[in-house]
Amino acid sequence: MLKEYDVIVVGGGHAGCEATAAAANSGASVLLVTMNMGTIAQMSCNPAMGGVAKGQIVREIDAMGGYSGIVADKTAIQFRMLNLSKGPAMWSPRVQSDRWLFAQEWRLMLEQTPNVDFWQDTVNNVIVKNGKVEGVITSLGLEIKTKSVVLTAGTFLNGLIHVGDKNFGGGRAGERNSKGITEQLIQLGFDHGRMKTGTPPRVDSRSLDYSKMEEQKGDENPSKFSFTNTKKLEKQKSCYITYTNPTVHEILRSGLDRSPMFSGSIEGTGPRYCPSIEEKIERFSERDRHQIFVEPEGWNTVEIYVNGFSTSLPMDVQMKAIKEIPGFENVKLFRPGYAIEYDYFPPTQLKHTLETKLVENLYFAGQINGTTGYEEAAGQGLMAGLNASLKVQEKEPLILRRDQAYIGVLIDDLITKGTKEPYRMFTSRAEYRILLRQDNADIRLTPLSHAVGLASDERLKAVKFKQNQTENILQMLSESSIEPEIANPYLEKAGTSPIKQKVKLSSIISRPQVSLSDIRNNENFNSFELNSFDDECLQQAEIKIKYDGYIQREKEMADKMNRLEDVIIHKDFDYTKLKSISSEAREKLTKIKPETIGQASRISGVSPADISVLLIHFGR
Ligand code: FAD
Repeated sequence: MLKEYDVIVVGGGHAGCEATAAAANSGASVLLVTMNMGTIAQMSCNPAMGGVAKGQIVREIDAMGGYSGIVADKTAIQFRMLNLSKGPAMWSPRVQSDRWLFAQEWRLMLEQTPNVDFWQDTVNNVIVKNGKVEGVITSLGLEIKTKSVVLTAGTFLNGLIHVGDKNFGGGRAGERNSKGITEQLIQLGFDHGRMKTGTPPRVDSRSLDYSKMEEQKGDENPSKFSFTNTKKLEKQKSCYITYTNPTVHEILRSGLDRSPMFSGSIEGTGPRYCPSIEEKIERFSERDRHQIFVEPEGWNTVEIYVNGFSTSLPMDVQMKAIKEIPGFENVKLFRPGYAIEYDYFPPTQLKHTLETKLVENLYFAGQINGTTGYEEAAGQGLMAGLNASLKVQEKEPLILRRDQAYIGVLIDDLITKGTKEPYRMFTSRAEYRILLRQDNADIRLTPLSHAVGLASDERLKAVKFKQNQTENILQMLSESSIEPEIANPYLEKAGTSPIKQKVKLSSIISRPQVSLSDIRNNENFNSFELNSFDDECLQQAEIKIKYDGYIQREKEMADKMNRLEDVIIHKDFDYTKLKSISSEAREKLTKIKPETIGQASRISGVSPADISVLLIHFGR
């Protein structure tokens, strides 16, 4: 009934949607098979995209030609650039999203993408012959042929939902779980594990008293995610902040004996950095309050997401405890919080392309790889979909290095180190943070993506314009001089020492107290015509002037490390031949099969001495 495809994407979550778009836009014929076409790109948990390190990933996805940034811009209800008081390596865009519009916009964009077909069904089986993918079998009994499969089943594989001492099968609240795939993959020789995550209750905004909370407005001059011409927000919706207190904690503790987390009925490991409220009050028992963000779920709904109150405690305990939070005294619940356990596959079983080592042309992306978060899922989905497409077209894969992208760090961490608990991205995971800024994601990645046929010509043109204009600004700033009587009133106001004689404008900009955008708005500086330049380009120029030393230092470090990435290790290399490496290194190297010496050096248990032995063996 259905034709043979280049790529079948299983699952229409964040990973699946980006995989579908990337595979189709890079030239593959794609079928998206998902259990429910009404829940494509559903935000299972918080209605938000981005945040610290995650925002950088969304910018990178956008720079590559993915859709998450565009969808996030079109459906945002609030924008904030986090960490603006820190250096630019830490600036992290975040939006509050309209949950329904987000899913709707994603589906619309996929429907408008050429080369994409849809099929609502559950895949129960991947057809594998001679170690290679040939198709999938669905629960309706269809056998669909394909050259490759990207599996993005999220939290659905044998998903088990817990609320207090009750539990039942499900992939997400109100949705069936998915059975069969785990069992088949185990038969094929894959290792698997169990993880868990949780979500807070949703409540009725009309029942809250906002006068008892602090308002959190969006940025006055909101920015956006996409490097394309999406619009900046003109109106925004506020979030609110309130706190738990000892009474809330006491009520929560009274339910711990019926908590699946503490009674042992949840076996899976939960996200360390996104713990449930019951875990927080136990882990940080010295704290008498925890912050709660009251987040609207959209423009046209009264539903509220209670961020920070994720819980799987019994419903009566949730209801009693939440009423003790200031502003929630008369709260009406829409949905209770719950936890979900699901199967994942340790990602050390994957190559850098996200293709599995065991089955050719089978790719895994998203939560199935042990990650948590929409952004992490979407970044993997894009790379898996793109690489699946490149492979069927017999083209070279695209692998992003750790000094090129957070997405590169994410994938390298997963496949090299593995993860035993839900993995989320942090800026601290990246060793080259000053290179991997949100502002330069397009400069870093659009040319790479364009070269393999994904990012469009328009995107590349925009990057070239940005680079040229930045160079022009830098040249102008380094050639133009400024007199003390013009500069000093501003410098004194900015809290930095006045100049005694004429200096180059760039030397003033290099001072931390001085901001190029303030200078642009200061009429003393009008003669430099800074207003004729684009905001983004001015920002690039300023970052280059202020941080050039750090940027160059990180580049040198990265170049040094990259020399190790050039030493390729054959996948069948026999480590038992190397007598002088440690037995732990031999065991780990044999299991993980690193593709380069660089990757080998990042495996825990492989020491610098082991790497020296490998280098000598490979004649370096
Ligand atoms: P999902 O978004 O789960 O999408 C999977 C898709 O695959 C679905 O569309 C499903 O219908 C489809 N599917 C599954 N199996 C099949 C099959 N066999 N055949 C066809 N289609 C199939 N993230 C955080 O960062 N912080 C949190 O606090 C957090 N809490 C969460 C709480 C809950 C209760 C849940 C469910 C998720 C939570 N998440 C959280 C995780 C976040 O939702 C995921 O990381 C993200 O959605 C993963 O994206 P994905 O594309 O891998 O999978």
